[in-house]
Amino acid sequence: MAASLRLRGAASGLRYWSRRQRPAVASLAVVCSRSMASKTPVGFIGLGNMGNPMAKNLMKHGYPLIIYDVFPDACKEFQDAGEQVVSCPADVAEKADRIITMLPTSINAIEAYSGANGILKKVKKGSLLIDSSTIDPAVSKELAKEVEKMGAVFMDAPVSGGVGAARSGNLTFMVGGVEDEFSAAQELLGCMGSNVLYCGAVGTGQAAKICNNMLLAISMIGTAEAMNLGIRLGLDPKLLAKILNMSSGRCWSSDTYNPVPGVMDGVPSSNNYQGGFGTTLMAKDLGLAQDSATSTKTPILLGSQAHQIYRMMCAKGYSKKDFSSIFQFLREEETF
Ligand code: NAD
Repeated sequence: MAASLRLRGAASGLRYWSRRQRPAVASLAVVCSRSMASKTPVGFIGLGNMGNPMAKNLMKHGYPLIIYDVFPDACKEFQDAGEQVVSCPADVAEKADRIITMLPTSINAIEAYSGANGILKKVKKGSLLIDSSTIDPAVSKELAKEVEKMGAVFMDAPVSGGVGAARSGNLTFMVGGVEDEFSAAQELLGCMGSNVLYCGAVGTGQAAKICNNMLLAISMIGTAEAMNLGIRLGLDPKLLAKILNMSSGRCWSSDTYNPVPGVMDGVPSSNNYQGGFGTTLMAKDLGLAQDSATSTKTPILLGSQAHQIYRMMCAKGYSKKDFSSIFQFLREEETF
């Protein structure tokens, strides 16, 4: 049955949901029972830059949490707030039948699901496991198969919007998985995001995310290059940003997340590139785009170049900084 549901999901194409258009409750009995018990604990694994504010938004909506992170300090805030912290992903699965994972890479996700003390060791039948990490779509598909063997459901639901949107509950979720389970996922994802889009079968959420981040990397490098050139030509950076944002060069990197220190408040560039979206994570996402392009024989000329640039930045000491530090990297370079 699950296989046929997945095929139906794949055939349905893109479906869009926003807070204004909440759809009817899904038909599967298992979904109904989870929805009725809507304030039962939700498991959350991975409380980093993104997971921390996402989990807090679930708390604001009244969901008790079962928390786990390999880095114990990441759990402290939640423990102090009265949430239950456990010592491994398997213990999360024992106590919660809906779990969200927000981990850096494919390897971390495999560890959290299939490791010695992973979710799969104690997952309950009918559980809903939502992975919001950005990972290889092939890994999402493998995890979905393993989860299905245990009688549970896996969906990939990577996010776009960054730390600011995670804090304000305005993330965009790109969801792949069995379509009949989409409403059950929306109930939770809608607490953390303003846009929840159904993309198709498992792995399609990751596919959408990878394409978005490849474009983001390219546009961030372009913005940093244009700003650096303008500054060297004597322009005031705030004025140049204002002009770009009124002109055809405008993009998210120029008007929402400008990479030049002092141009905007509340963005990583004005905080010594701390917090935000790490350069290592961007290099990882570009690696996923490169792998996908190779396997589908798709030319990604600028995407490949962006991958090399972010890898070089990681090697030159930028790995812990936000990815907009490409501006600082370029500032330090001079060409003949
Ligand atoms: P992060 O490194 O800040 O946080 C990840 C957390 O996961 C850390 O607290 C770490 O200790 C924990 N962790 C690692 N392995 C673990 C394991 N096996 N079990 C339990 N916990 C584990 O990363 P982040 O910035 O929160 O990003 C998380 C994911 O979201 C990444 O895949 C990233 O690509 C994606 N993403 C990030 C942003 C952003 O702006 N930061 C935006 C969109 C998507």
